Amino acid sequence: MTNHPKDLAPMPRGDLLPETRLYIDGAWTDTAEHFGVVNPANGKTFASVCDATSDDARRALDAAHAAQADWGRVAPRKRANLMHRAHALMLEREEAFVHVMTLESGKPLTESRAEFLLSTDFLLWFAEQTAHLDGSYSHSSNGGFRVLVTHQPVGPCLLITPWNFPLLMIVRKGGAALAAGCTTITKTAQETPLTGALFMQVLHDAGFPPGVANLLHTTKSSGVSEPLMQDKRLRKVSFTGSTRVGSLLMEQGARNIINASMELGGDGPFIVLDDADIDLAVDQAIICKFRNAGQACVAANRIIVDARVEAEFTGKFLAKVKALTVGDGMGAVDVGPMISARQRDRLVDTVAQLTDAGGELLTGGKAIDGEGFFFEPTVVRYVGRNDVMCSNELFAPIATIFAVDGAEAALDFANDSDFGLASYVFTRDLSRAITFGERLEFGMVGINRGIMADPKAPFGGTKTSGIGREAGQDGIYEFTEMKYMAVTVNEEVA
Ligand code: NAD
Repeated sequence: MTNHPKDLAPMPRGDLLPETRLYIDGAWTDTAEHFGVVNPANGKTFASVCDATSDDARRALDAAHAAQADWGRVAPRKRANLMHRAHALMLEREEAFVHVMTLESGKPLTESRAEFLLSTDFLLWFAEQTAHLDGSYSHSSNGGFRVLVTHQPVGPCLLITPWNFPLLMIVRKGGAALAAGCTTITKTAQETPLTGALFMQVLHDAGFPPGVANLLHTTKSSGVSEPLMQDKRLRKVSFTGSTRVGSLLMEQGARNIINASMELGGDGPFIVLDDADIDLAVDQAIICKFRNAGQACVAANRIIVDARVEAEFTGKFLAKVKALTVGDGMGAVDVGPMISARQRDRLVDTVAQLTDAGGELLTGGKAIDGEGFFFEPTVVRYVGRNDVMCSNELFAPIATIFAVDGAEAALDFANDSDFGLASYVFTRDLSRAITFGERLEFGMVGINRGIMADPKAPFGGTKTSGIGREAGQDGIYEFTEMKYMAVTVNEEVA
C-alpha cells in the first residue's frame, strides 16, 4: 500500500501509512524525482513523496477527460453511494488522518481531529446533495414554448489546495465536484501531501472509477498547473490560497475562459462593542486568533474594541494568551509551530513593523529557540485605528488590538480593507448585530462567535478575498453549467 522509503523515520501511529506516489487514472504512479515532507515541530524530514512534472499533469488530465462523460452520467444515487462508502472508510481511518495531519501541518491533535470530523461532515453533505441538484420547467413569456433548465457537470476540474487545512480544503472542493458529476485533479500543497494521499486512498477503496479523482504533489506548482490551465479540456479551477496566486490563475484561465472559484486571503476584523459579553468575546478571540497558530484565512486579524471596554477586554485576553502552551502538536498543547522556518522568520520583521507603527508590545514577539518553527503568542496594542493593519494579513500567532472610539469608528476601520472574507461582531443588542451584519463588507459575519465553518454555510469572500462560495445549499452549483432547453410543444393532443 505504501512505498515509504526505508531510510526515513517511520511515520508514527495510525493504522494506515499514506501512499507517497501520485494517483493517476485509478493507480498509484511513481516518478523519477521525489521531495521531502518536513515535520514543522522538529524540522526533520519524515517522508519522501513523488514530485510531479508537467507530463504527469497532462496524464492526469487525459484520465480526467476520458472519465468525464461516463462519470457525469452516473446516476446521482450511485454517486451518493460511493461517497457514503468513502465517508464510512474515512471514519474507520480517523487515527491515521489525525496523526498524519499533525505530523505534516504541525497543528495540535485536537485541531486535526476537529478538522477531520468537519471534513467527514462535508463529505456527507455533498453525498446528500447529489439528490438535490434542482432544475426547473416553465412556460416562455409569450407562451409559445417551454423553458427547461437543468444543471450539468462543468467538466474536468483542477483543485489547488493550501497546507493550513490540508484535509478540509480537499474534501470541500472534491466533495462538491464529485457530487456534481465532475472529474478532478487535486494538487496538494507541497508541505502537506500525505493527508491528500490518505483521502485519495479512501476514494480508491470506496470504488470510484479510474480517472474520476486524480492526485498530484509537486515542488513546481506553476510548472504543473500552467499547462493544465492552457489545455482546453480543463473546464474549471477551484483554488484556495493567497490572493497573489489566485490572481495569477485567473489571468492564466482567461485565455480559455476557465470557470474559476477563488478562496483567497483575509484580514478579518473582530469587533467588540461596548455592550458585548466580554468573557465570551475573549474566549472566541483566543480561538479565532490562535487556532492553527494564526495560520487561517478567517483568523481574527484586527481586534477592534470600543475604548470603553478595551481595558477589560485586553486584560482578560492577555492573561489567556500568556497561559497558552506552545509545542509539538503531538502533545497536549494549545499552539503548534509555524509551517516553515521561512514563515517563522518573517515574523520578526512583522513585529518590528507593528511596533514601528506605534504598537505597544504586550507579550511575545520572538521566535522560540530550539527544534521546530515556533513563535511566541504575541499581542500588540494600539490606541485608535492604525493603517499598518489594513489589508495586511498576518497569518501568524500575533494579535493586534485597537481601542477605537465607538461603533461607527469600529465599522469604518473594519471596512477599510482590500479583503472581504470573514468578519466578527460581538454585541448583546440584536439591532446592532443585524446592522453590523449588513454593513460589514465581508462575505461572512460571525455574530457573537469566532468559528463559522459548516457544510450548511456558504463559505467565501468579497473584494480580493475571492469569487464564489464553497458548500452551503449552492456550493455544488459552482461545479455545474446551467443548461437551457427550449421545447416546442404541440398542444394538439389528437
Ligand atoms: P499559496 O497561494 O502560496 O499556496 C496555495 C496553493 O497554491 C498551494 O498548493 C501552492 O503549491 C499553490 N501555488 C503556489 N504558487 C502557485 C502558482 N504559481 N501556480 C499554481 N499554484 C501555485 O498560499 P499559502 O501561502 O500556502 O497559503 C496561505 C494563503 O491562503 C493565505 O493568504 C490565506 O488567507 C489563504 N487561504 C485562504 C482560504 C480561504 O478559504 N479563503 C483558506 C486557507 C488559506
